[in-house]
Amino acid sequence: MRILVVSDLHSNLEALQTVLTNTQGEYTQVVCCGDLVGYGPDPNAIVDWVRENVSAVVRGNHDKVGCGIDDAEGFNEVAKAAAYWTRGQVTPENLQYLRDLPIGPLEVMSSFAILHGSPSDEDEYITTSWEAAEVFKHLIHPVSFFGHTHLQGGFFRAPNGPVQVIPAPVGKGETRRVMELKAGQTYYINPGSVGQPRDGDKRAGFAIYDTAGFIEFGRIPYDIETTMDKMRQAGLPEFLARRLGLGR
Ligand code: ZN
Repeated sequence: MRILVVSDLHSNLEALQTVLTNTQGEYTQVVCCGDLVGYGPDPNAIVDWVRENVSAVVRGNHDKVGCGIDDAEGFNEVAKAAAYWTRGQVTPENLQYLRDLPIGPLEVMSSFAILHGSPSDEDEYITTSWEAAEVFKHLIHPVSFFGHTHLQGGFFRAPNGPVQVIPAPVGKGETRRVMELKAGQTYYINPGSVGQPRDGDKRAGFAIYDTAGFIEFGRIPYDIETTMDKMRQAGLPEFLARRLGLGR
């Protein structure tokens, strides 16, 4: 079975549509590691798509703030401005959907689970191997997909071995990279951010999990200019628009 794994969509419809076009026919279900909304200009279109097409989804920190079940106090000024803008845009049905999103980790199959930040805290950034070492104590599935950092890659550990980093898996000159999963190892995998990559590569990120034992990481360029124009027309902070063009 092949499963499309997406995370941190952040209301970026152009990025999502491009990922879907690029992966058409390659998977039988989609799962999402949270942050449907926040930052971008199309929160309703993204939530509508998730409601119709995603078989398993967990909430992210921006979903909590965007639907008002958490305040924006931990956010910087631009994230806060975008969160308040999002709250004003989202339809009552979509607002309720965001409020009802489950907290990760969520088991999707016996082989894998999805979550947003870390197993104990959806707001926690796991970027280093020593932060990940703490996480691995709590992982109960061979593969867990997470998001939040917007950095494609993640970590793995052999039984009793040290946690090892999976650095940016897809090079600038390529669009896909397949990683083989070894039996007995545990994997903590970030599929990359669809809607706001921050690893220096502005292309939309995603992963396809093949339960036969592979993860295929993907990067695909999308029409960033259109997304930036929409953000400017919506009155979203200019910094957020420019950030998309930098991939940081
Ligand atoms: Zn995010």
